[in-house]
Amino acid sequence: MLTQELTDKYQLVVGLEVHAQLATSSKLFAGDATNFGAQANTQVSVITLGHPGTLPKLNIRALEFAVRMGLACESQISRKSSFDRKNYFYPDLPKGYQITQDKEPICVGGNVILTLEEGTEREIVLNRIHLEEDAGKLIHSSEQEESRVDYNRAGTALIELVTEPCLRSAEEAVAFLAEIRKLVMYLGICDGNMEEGSLRCDANVSVRLHGSATLGKKVEIKNMNSFRNLGRAIDFEYERQVGLLEVGQDIVSETRTFDADRGVTASMRTKEELNDYRYFPEPDLPPVILTEEWIEKVRAELPVLPRDLYRKFREVYGLPRYDAALLTETKEASSWFESLCTRTAHFKAASNWMMGPLKSYLNESGITYSNLPLSVESVAQLIALVEDGKISFSVASQKIFPELLLHADVSPLSIAQRLNLIQESDASFLLPMAKEVLFENPGKVSEYKSGKKGLLGFFMGELMKKSKGKADPKVATQVITDLLMN
Ligand code: ADP
Ligand code: MG
Repeated sequence: MLTQELTDKYQLVVGLEVHAQLATSSKLFAGDATNFGAQANTQVSVITLGHPGTLPKLNIRALEFAVRMGLACESQISRKSSFDRKNYFYPDLPKGYQITQDKEPICVGGNVILTLEEGTEREIVLNRIHLEEDAGKLIHSSEQEESRVDYNRAGTALIELVTEPCLRSAEEAVAFLAEIRKLVMYLGICDGNMEEGSLRCDANVSVRLHGSATLGKKVEIKNMNSFRNLGRAIDFEYERQVGLLEVGQDIVSETRTFDADRGVTASMRTKEELNDYRYFPEPDLPPVILTEEWIEKVRAELPVLPRDLYRKFREVYGLPRYDAALLTETKEASSWFESLCTRTAHFKAASNWMMGPLKSYLNESGITYSNLPLSVESVAQLIALVEDGKISFSVASQKIFPELLLHADVSPLSIAQRLNLIQESDASFLLPMAKEVLFENPGKVSEYKSGKKGLLGFFMGELMKKSKGKADPKVATQVITDLLMN
């Protein structure tokens, strides 16, 4: 941990490069399938291998997905963009070059707004979003002295988002990556699965004296695929660089990897040894020219974005910030909530149900809203039963809810009736029992009458016991206080 003095002295500067694998069924320039976990080298055509005489052809769906992301981030969509070859040798790159967009990316600029915990907003400025193909995968054996290569992933479509160096803490970087993950999943362009590598991130990290107008030398940390490791790697790197500067050493511009087991970054290659990629325009692909009409069509088909939903949940449904953030976390949750709100006007109660019993159930059973064995109608009826004072929330969530999950076709009311759980709000039902309670506790009654009003809770508890939990608390309070006044 750096001392306060040092964090006051040195500012952390981070720029991220995020790769998202597009959820297209075929590759960026070939018809090969893109199923994750398929048998090695079964989704590899001669185009992916770059055999002589083959030609790449752009996947229009991938292009559309990239434009969707650009529109969602308010980027400028390039009317003309083009592809370039990035040349380098590595065994996972069958063609000896990667097709990417260097000079004319599909989206330029843009921004992503982060809502931080206290509700303040931070705008993260994008430099660009471009399309490129992925490389294959090397599988290194720990037992044998050999490595294997699987080209199934080679040629799959990626977008790369590049931020300006405007992030200022590990927390902000993590929040940015989380926002991107949420966004690509809402847009339906990437499955967001970080364990499978569908979303990965490089972090460029430098430090400088606070107030300095120039940026420090940066280090690039490659390929992190978890939020936690991204945060740990940035924090480690911040401390390492500050430590070097404090003893008068220079920062070496280099590429580093993060060793998650040891929690440290280690040098991979320095800038001097860095490849000269010899970018040049891809001769086999014509430039991409987009019409206004096509762009407008993509815009018209955009789903409602999580940020707009968040605002709606705050303003239209009156939810607290915490609720609004949680319920807009996934498209499934926000749609479920909105659909529930067409059947109940108790929006906060609806939110409580989703954040409480429903969320616990989904977590425990490892499913999502799309396969929840429960209709919004049932939950709306449960809410109505509680709000009408027919059952308490604890009876609803602990007794009726589990039954509903087993018998999705039965109404909450009939379950409540069958289990004899309907609260008695009829005063004439409660009156004899309330009288009994007072009769059995003469001492407490005189204490109450001489001013110990806190005993009301005791009488209520006794009445609840006698009525087997069915007394409506409001009516019960009324009945007891009336009796005690005489
Ligand atoms: P390069 O020439 O090394 O590819 P770029 O200027 O293209 O560098 O930037 C790549 C990424 O590094 C971007 O996300 C950018 O915001 C970030 N970056 C650039 N300079 C710095 C810096 N001094 N400190 C932190 N991040 C930086
Ligand atoms: Mg660059």
